[in-house]
Amino acid sequence: MTHVARTVAFKPGERNIFFHILTACNLSCRHCYINPAQHGSETLALETIQRWLELFVAPGKTGNVIFLGGEPTLHPDLAAAVAHAKGLGFGVTVDSNGYLFHDFLHRTDPDLLDYLSFSLDGPDPEVNDPLRGSGVFATCVANIKRAVALGFRTSLIYTVSSRNLLHLERMVPLLVELGVKKFFIQVIGLRGRSAGPAAGDHVFQVSRDRWLAVVPGVAARAAAQGIQVTYPKVFIDQDEKFECAGRVAENYFIFPNGRVYQCPLCEDYPINAWRIEDDDLVKNEGLCEDRLFTLDIPEGCVMNKLLQPDTIDYDEKGRPSHKISCCLLKQEIG
Ligand code: SF4
Ligand code: SF4
Repeated sequence: MTHVARTVAFKPGERNIFFHILTACNLSCRHCYINPAQHGSETLALETIQRWLELFVAPGKTGNVIFLGGEPTLHPDLAAAVAHAKGLGFGVTVDSNGYLFHDFLHRTDPDLLDYLSFSLDGPDPEVNDPLRGSGVFATCVANIKRAVALGFRTSLIYTVSSRNLLHLERMVPLLVELGVKKFFIQVIGLRGRSAGPAAGDHVFQVSRDRWLAVVPGVAARAAAQGIQVTYPKVFIDQDEKFECAGRVAENYFIFPNGRVYQCPLCEDYPINAWRIEDDDLVKNEGLCEDRLFTLDIPEGCVMNKLLQPDTIDYDEKGRPSHKISCCLLKQEIG
C-alpha cells in the first residue's frame, strides 16, 4: 500500500491545551525552548492545575491536554493531574524526556493516558546523547520498553536539526523494534536557547532543500511499517491556502507564571493574548500576539517574518518564493 501525506486542517471544534505544569528539568538539552524568565520557575500545586484545567472545559468541543514541563514527571502529582484531566473529558498526553520520575508508570494507567510521548533526537547514544545528555538514550529506550510492556500507547518526538537530520532514517527500525505507534518529527525553532549564540542556531538550522530531501521520504518509510507519522508542513506554495492557527484554531500554551499564549513562536515575549489571574482566564489588552495574527502578508506567518526573516527566499521581483506555513500546520501519513 502506498501512503500519501495529507495536510491536517485546523479543527475549529477542537481545543488543544499545552500545559507546562513546571519548568524544572533534570536535563539541559541543546535546543531547549524553556525560558524561566518568561515562563516562570514555579511548580504548580495540584489544586491549581485542577482549577486551571477546568477553565478550558468547553461543552460541545473536543479537548486535548498535553502535559509538559520542564519534565512533567518531576511533578509528584502528575498522575492525579492526568486523572483529573481525563475526568473532565479531555484526551490526555504526557510528553516526557524518558526519565519517568515518581514511579509514574505504576501510578497512572493506560486507560487514563491516551499517549505517553518520549523525546529522542537520535537512533543511538552517539547521535542522541550529545544533544540531550550523557546516558539519556539508554534510560529513555529502557523506559519506552517498560511502558509498551505495561500496555501504554507510546509516541516519540524527534527534533530535527543539522546535527541529526541524516540519522532520522535509522529511527524507523528502532521505532518498529520498540513498538512505538506514533512518530512526531519536529523542526528546530528559533526560540529560547536555540536562538542564543551558545547553541549556534545558524549551525543547527536545516535548509528547506535538506528538509524536503529527507523528512517526507523517512515519514513514508515509517508509515509503510504501520507507524503514524506527523511532521510540520513548514513551506507552502504561493497558490496554497495559508491559515494562522491563532485565527482559526484553539490552541492554548499555558505556563506556570500564568501566561497563556496562542502561538508557540511568541513564547519568548510578553505578548501573550491571555493570562490566568486568580484562577480566571483573562484577555490581555494592548499589543498582544492576537493583533499580529490578523496581519495578511505575502510571506505567510507573521511571527516567522518577524523572528526569522532569513528563512524566507525572495525572487528577483522581491516576492517570496514560498510562503512559510503556520508552525502548527502538520502533515500526517500512515
Ligand atoms: S527535556 Fe525538555 S525541558 Fe528538559 S532540557 Fe530537554 S528540551 Fe528542555
Ligand atoms: S506560527 Fe505564525 S501562523 Fe502559526 S499561530 Fe503563530 S503567527 Fe500564526
